[in-house]
Amino acid sequence: MDNIFNIKTFAKKFKETVKWMLENNYAEKIKNDLQNFKENKTHLQNNEDSFRALGMIIKLIITNSERFRLPQNFDNLWRSFEEKYGRENFRDRIEEAKKELIDRLANEIVVREIIKRKIDELFNYLRNQTVQKFTEELYQMAQEGGTVVLGEKGRDLYLRDFGYWDRIPIDRHQMRFIIRSGIYHACSSERSDPLKKRDLQDALKKFCSDYLKDYTVEEIELGSAPGIVDIFIWSFCAKNRYNICKDTPQCKECPLKDVCLYALIHQQKS
Ligand code: SF4
Repeated sequence: MDNIFNIKTFAKKFKETVKWMLENNYAEKIKNDLQNFKENKTHLQNNEDSFRALGMIIKLIITNSERFRLPQNFDNLWRSFEEKYGRENFRDRIEEAKKELIDRLANEIVVREIIKRKIDELFNYLRNQTVQKFTEELYQMAQEGGTVVLGEKGRDLYLRDFGYWDRIPIDRHQMRFIIRSGIYHACSSERSDPLKKRDLQDALKKFCSDYLKDYTVEEIELGSAPGIVDIFIWSFCAKNRYNICKDTPQCKECPLKDVCLYALIHQQKS
């Protein structure tokens, strides 16, 4: 298959496709995502107890890493919670804050035991350390495959969204794309397994560092930011964005059809 699939040619077209995504229907949404990531990063760097970051962790806990819908009133709830506890060192009233947060959530959703347990776990960490420190430790754990409070996907969503752009919150969209496109084929190591998320994340990291180095979009260098490349891949595949490399891939209308491994295999067969 190497005689027809070429990762360098693919990478060149992939960069053009990233540019295309930034000029078409969902350009504004992607740009907003990137802007939010940058603002989040700065906010956490400048606020050791960033309520913006804390709010994201709580959101991920109650939605089980975006699997369930967020209560409609969550943003108002969080704003008034921050008004009350965010102006001073909330650690001084941490038990009261925790209880009030759970009570307020209970007015909006059924607060299951697992949610209470996770909030409890989070507030136990925050009793002795800042949100900034908690995030740094979570990042260190992630490097070794560990996590606390959040599941692996939630952990990587949170870390990516708050400035750790090497974290890749992979889901089925990106997994399919990494395998179909040929990124896995060209960038995985000998012992890799395409059924393991971590091996797919490693393949994407290698693709970025080897082939997207010095390629910058919206002031972000993609070679060292596979988590940002992840949002482009997700946007390329997801139903509410470009919806191209979906369950049944739309190869005929795909800008990558002449360079993608899956498309090349299927062209050969037909
Ligand atoms: S050519 Fe087909 S399989 Fe390849 S990225 Fe495009 S839609 Fe997906």
